[in-house]
Amino acid sequence: MKCPFCARTDNRVVDSRLSRDGDAVRRRRVCNCCGRRFTTFETVEEIPIMIRKKDGRREIYHRDKVRAGILRACEKRNVEMEAVEGILNEVERDFQERAEKEISSADIGETVMTRLLGLDDVAYVRFASVYQAFGDVNDFVEALQKIKEKAERDAARRAAGPSPDDPACRGNPE
Ligand SMILES: [Zn+2]
Repeated sequence: MKCPFCARTDNRVVDSRLSRDGDAVRRRRVCNCCGRRFTTFETVEEIPIMIRKKDGRREIYHRDKVRAGILRACEKRNVEMEAVEGILNEVERDFQERAEKEISSADIGETVMTRLLGLDDVAYVRFASVYQAFGDVNDFVEALQKIKEKAERDAARRAAGPSPDDPACRGNPE
């Protein structure tokens, strides 16, 4: 490593510590020629993640691109930016768990849709329609079916809890 002051390569590390988020090592060095100090950072080389598309073509994964798709689906809906970033983080976590640096666009779509389903029904259907382009009418029916099932689950959860309106909780009228 060249000294930024005298351009000599003879220097030594006097301090080495992990960055706050743990993804870089910061090294404090002293030049053995001019005696000045400087800092170097060491990070893991980022290997681009490839997306394998339906037609077999590959393209580099861009967080911005997936975010734009989610935001389009969430337009005028009450979905927090934080939730959108959370979905993107989950997609990227999914990458990291894989040995191969390639993921299918269908896998990304599935992850996003699963998360949107829990957030906002309208955003979910919009995303599904854009993402899958509803190549098959069954896909659309399936998307609606998932919403129906979720609504039923929610209703069942509400019904399970005691409610003052629930006749079963009032006991026998006397
Ligand atoms: Zn120097």
